[in-house]
Amino acid sequence: MVNGRGSRFRIGNIAGHDVYVDLVMMGIFALFVLWGRTREEMALGVAWLVGGFLSVLVHELGHAEAIRRLKHR
Ligand SMILES: [Zn+2]
Repeated sequence: MVNGRGSRFRIGNIAGHDVYVDLVMMGIFALFVLWGRTREEMALGVAWLVGGFLSVLVHELGHAEAIRRLKHR
């Protein structure tokens, strides 16, 4: 992320990795919902938000796990 630590908050811990959500990123994802003009379009936006969040989460956990494994060789 391009911002400092002030705009993030911890949402939990997955497999020993602290997970933080960045409010700037969530704001960008929220645009997918807010761009919808109808209920259906907004529901599609929510689906993109959830799918985007989960794919970024899995991707970043991959980085975290790779770093952990390289450290413990
Ligand atoms: Zn990456």
